[in-house]
Order: sequence, then C-alpha cells, then structure tokens
Amino acid sequence: MTTKPVRTVYLDHAATTAVDPRVVEAMLPYFTEKYGNPSSIYALGREAAAAIDQARRTVAEILHAQPRDIVFTSSGTESDNLAIKGCAFAQRKQGKNHIITSPIEHHAVGHTVEQLVKEFGFEVTVVPVDRYGVVDPDDVGRAITERTALVTIMYANNEVGTIEPIPEIGAITRQKGVPFHTDAVQAGGSLDLDVERLGVDFLSLSAHKFYGPKGVGVLYVRRFAPLMPILTGGGHERNRRASTENVPGIVGLATALRLAHERREEENAHVARLRDRLIQGILSTIPDVQLTGHPTNRLPNSASFVFHGIEGEAILLNLDLQGVSASSGSACTSASLEPSHVLLAMQVPVEIAHGSLRLTLGRENTDEDVDYVVSILPGIVEKLRAMSPMYHR
Ligand code: PLP
Repeated sequence: MTTKPVRTVYLDHAATTAVDPRVVEAMLPYFTEKYGNPSSIYALGREAAAAIDQARRTVAEILHAQPRDIVFTSSGTESDNLAIKGCAFAQRKQGKNHIITSPIEHHAVGHTVEQLVKEFGFEVTVVPVDRYGVVDPDDVGRAITERTALVTIMYANNEVGTIEPIPEIGAITRQKGVPFHTDAVQAGGSLDLDVERLGVDFLSLSAHKFYGPKGVGVLYVRRFAPLMPILTGGGHERNRRASTENVPGIVGLATALRLAHERREEENAHVARLRDRLIQGILSTIPDVQLTGHPTNRLPNSASFVFHGIEGEAILLNLDLQGVSASSGSACTSASLEPSHVLLAMQVPVEIAHGSLRLTLGRENTDEDVDYVVSILPGIVEKLRAMSPMYHR
C-alpha cells in the first residue's frame, strides 16, 4: 500500500515550468477566434501576423535587439541546431570547418557539434572547464584560428547552474571576427539578455523554462551573421526558418518573457534566498555531500549536489515517494547509469558523480517547501547509505 505524501513540492524548474495563467489567457484567442494563418492577406491572417509582430518587438526589446533579428523556432533544441548547423554550413565554402565549444553543453549543442564532426568533417576544439564548471575566455581566444566558423558556449549550465563569462568571451570573438552562439535556455527568465552587452551573434531561448508553453523557442540572429536555413520551404521568418508560425506559442513565449523580465529582480531575490536556505540546510545536516557548480556565480534558482556512496536515481525515487519532484545529472541509458558528462568535465570522480541531485526552485516555492525537503532528505540519504556497499564513512 502506498500512502499519500504529506506535501508535494516541485523542485525541477530547470526541466520545465508550469505555464503562467496570464500566459494561457494571452494565448487562448489564437487557438479559436484568431486562428488565421499569418501569411494570409485577409483580416484574420493579418490579425495573426500583427500578433507575431508584437511578440517579435517584445522579445527584441528585452534582448536589446532589432525585431528583424528574432527568429521564432519550435524549441531550444531547434534554436541550437539552427545556430550551429546554420552558421557552420553557411561558411563551409569559405573553408571554415572548425568549431569551438565546452564539455558541459546540453546535448542539443553537444550532439549537434558531434554530428558535424562525425558526418560532415568539421573539426572541434573543446575548451576545458575548471572544477566549478567555468570556461576560461583566454582558452577560447587561443583556440580560434582563421578556419574557425563558430564558438558555442552556454550562458548557464542546466545541471550545476554555473554562469559562464559570456561578455568576456564575446569581447574576444568580436575582436577576432568569429561568430559566437550562446545557449541561454536556462538563463532566459533570470539573467540579463542584452545581446550587445553579451557580445553574441546567436542566442537560444525556450519558452517552457520561463513559465511559457512547451514547443516554442527563439533564436536571436545578429544582422549579417552567416546562417543557412535548416528548415527550407516557405519564406517565413525572413527565409531563416520555413513553416507556418505557431501563433499561440509565439504569443505565449513573448508574454512569458515579458512577465519574467518585468519582475526579474524580485523573483531572483525570492528564489536565491530559498536556494541559499536549501543549500545551507542540506550541507549542515548531511555528511559527505558537496555542492556542485560555482559557489556564488550560479543561477539564482539552482542548487546541485553530489552525495557520496549512493546513486542519484535512488534519492530521486525516495524523494518522489515523499512528494518531491527533483532531478539527477545522470542519464539513464539502456543497461547502465552513465554519470553526468558535466560533472566528469569538472573532474568530479566517477564514483561520486553517480550520487548527483539537482534541485531547481521557482516562483511558487516557499520556505515551507525548503523546510520540508531539508527535513526528509537526511533520512533518505542515511537509509540509502546504510544499504550501500559503496559508502564508507
Ligand atoms: N539547452 C539547455 C541548456 C537546456 O537546459 C535545454 C532543456 O533542458 C535545452 C537546450 C533544450 O530546450 P527544449 O526543451 O526547448 O528543446
């Protein structure tokens, strides 16, 4: 018999977020009454086109960009693919076949670069990260050659929350005239997205990480940056991304981004305070645990740990039984549990990397949520360690 947990706590906002009711409200008319195809010339179509124009202006303003630089896509993954493949393929005829990236990218970037290397003959330089997961901008500068087509380094890491020195890298790529892409999917709702300050030519966003709908994203493309379209067809998005626009999704994305940035300071302060209580509570009550990622320069909502001697998945299952949704850095493959490539790149020993836990906070979390997790986690860890042959105190 399973008993109902005393409380349910969602601590996986890096995986996805609930859509804000104000976002749902803004989207609804575009499913039913205002359902026109934005390419149609009659009033219904023009109404949909006007909604997209407005959304494009809203996003552009937050990014300090021009509306024409905003390309709507179907996801963060598609934005990453378009930036990387589109920029790489556009320069191939000029003999540019080299890409620079980091070892801690999301698979939407990592596997895309890997495909360009394995299937299309590109070369890659993977610059290292330090034990906190930070890239050294000088390593990027040293890796650039006259054949470099693109630098792609994420803004903030999805597993450990570390924020990368994007403006410093951007200053170097600008000076050397090399296109620079940043995957800002985890940073979208909480960090400054000013593309001029960041010095980026491409920036990826995904609405479902900031209380918008799933299945809609943005790629910022600086004017004149090299880009070959990946989806070919109609002339949508100024010939950079064919396909009838997801009008409700685009309206939802822009509304969610506007709401997140209007109250960014307050919301960051709220989740950062909870995050610091959570980190403090866990580190002070449980032995043999380490915070992963940068101690201070991390996303305001992100707390990540490794627990010695136990599997992250076992912690997750036990937390779930007690009503807590969380995540681990490990990816379940068919036969084995692979430790996270992010932790391994940060030189976390394999046996410890298996015990990873990521807790990511959101708007609706409260002090009581933090108290609850801090009250149940020590018991879970103690129980698992008592059964674990891997744990030696
Ligand atoms: N990049 C990062 C850093 C992410 O965390 C994610 C999603 O977890 C993605 C890209 C993919 O975004 P989407 O789920 O919109 O395809």
